Amino acid sequence: MRVHHLLLLSLVAACGPGGQKAPKATTQTVVVAPVSATTIRISTSDVKANKLFGAKAKASRQSPAAIGTYAKGCLAGGAVLPESGPTWQAMRLSRNRNWGHPEMITFLKELSAKAAQQPGWAGLYIGDISQPRGGPMLSGHQSHQMGLDADIWLYKPTRLNLSRGERESLSSTNVRAKSQRTVNSNWSQQHANILKVAAQDPRVDRIFITAPAKIWLCENTRGNRKWLQKIRPLYGHNTHFHVRMKCPKGLKGCVTQKPTVAQISNGGDGCDKTLQWWVTDYLNPPKVKPSKKPKPKKKKRGARQYTMADLPRQCDGVLASN
Ligand SMILES: [Zn+2]
Repeated sequence: MRVHHLLLLSLVAACGPGGQKAPKATTQTVVVAPVSATTIRISTSDVKANKLFGAKAKASRQSPAAIGTYAKGCLAGGAVLPESGPTWQAMRLSRNRNWGHPEMITFLKELSAKAAQQPGWAGLYIGDISQPRGGPMLSGHQSHQMGLDADIWLYKPTRLNLSRGERESLSSTNVRAKSQRTVNSNWSQQHANILKVAAQDPRVDRIFITAPAKIWLCENTRGNRKWLQKIRPLYGHNTHFHVRMKCPKGLKGCVTQKPTVAQISNGGDGCDKTLQWWVTDYLNPPKVKPSKKPKPKKKKRGARQYTMADLPRQCDGVLASN
């Protein structure tokens, strides 16, 4: 009887998000720890996925795969970005988020080597990529779940011998003016050059950065402007930029994000009125009369609430793997 009950639960749960809502486990018979018990589907448990993924100190021994979506997925066979290299240092080592899909790790090494060619730059300080097996996190990001997102500090590295302690305590550089409408004097042509190199890489899908930086790029880019299309304004992102890669070729089960409407409709570089919105209405929303009946808000479950039933089924295997 018990076995049947479990089976039924896992079958429904496999429909996952988008289909029927996965039921919560109503029985206490599912043992979650130790996770290595592969015979039991972990997805029948109520335990939050971020706890399960946060407990993994090392990548799974599987062939590399980014599974699911940027904000609902996991990472098989992750590679580690070494804490220090010839042109980079990983920051906030205590978080253990210097893991990614091997293609991301290669990209970061290459980008840092190009950054090191900028006058005054020793390379790059790299912030969060993903946890060893990706997945939702206990703190911070909604995305960064399948090893294809990375935060790169806007802090100009002049040396690459930061101690562990310094990598915890240093803060990155803010390039946004107090008014939030323009960049400040920390912004430089070198930042623009590095962003251009990153955006021109065919493996890169998009790059998030504070709107004032995108506005600066729109106003100051001469010649080829195609790469500007990949630079997307987003709140926050005034001390780092966020590189999102496309799904590596031939990877089934990895979903690349659709291009946003703004990108298609404005001729490609994203330097139109919608960009100005970030420094006008976004900062100073026009007052609207409240309607009598407020629309009921759709409840959105954040990544921190996900259980394994919310994630692609292969993520069970990623957790259970050695
Ligand atoms: Zn990020």
